[in-house]
Amino acid sequence: MQKVYPNILTIITTYHCTAACEECCFECSPKLKARLSFQQISEFLKESREALGSKVKGVVFTGGECFTLGDDLVRLSGLRITLDIMLGVCQMDRGQKHLKRPVT
Ligand code: SF4
Repeated sequence: MQKVYPNILTIITTYHCTAACEECCFECSPKLKARLSFQQISEFLKESREALGSKVKGVVFTGGECFTLGDDLVRLSGLRITLDIMLGVCQMDRGQKHLKRPVT
């Protein structure tokens, strides 16, 4: 039997969101502040790379509104270059005002 490995990682970085949609499956809202730290996310990414090697092709940051991570999201963007994996983000239309510089 062929083994199947994950190749895209999705990280729910925060339950904080600038919206509070009734249909939100995580019940995210501006009132919720829970989020993963830069340290937690970066360690997970490094451990995933070590465990799965080049099978990991990309990571998607979501939430909540991942752009409310601010500079931590920019730092994570730099880390994914070091780890040579693609980056995707959700909800960039509403959250970019939280960034002092763009994610590349
Ligand atoms: S995460 Fe999405 S669905 Fe949930 S409150 Fe925010 S915008 Fe709405």
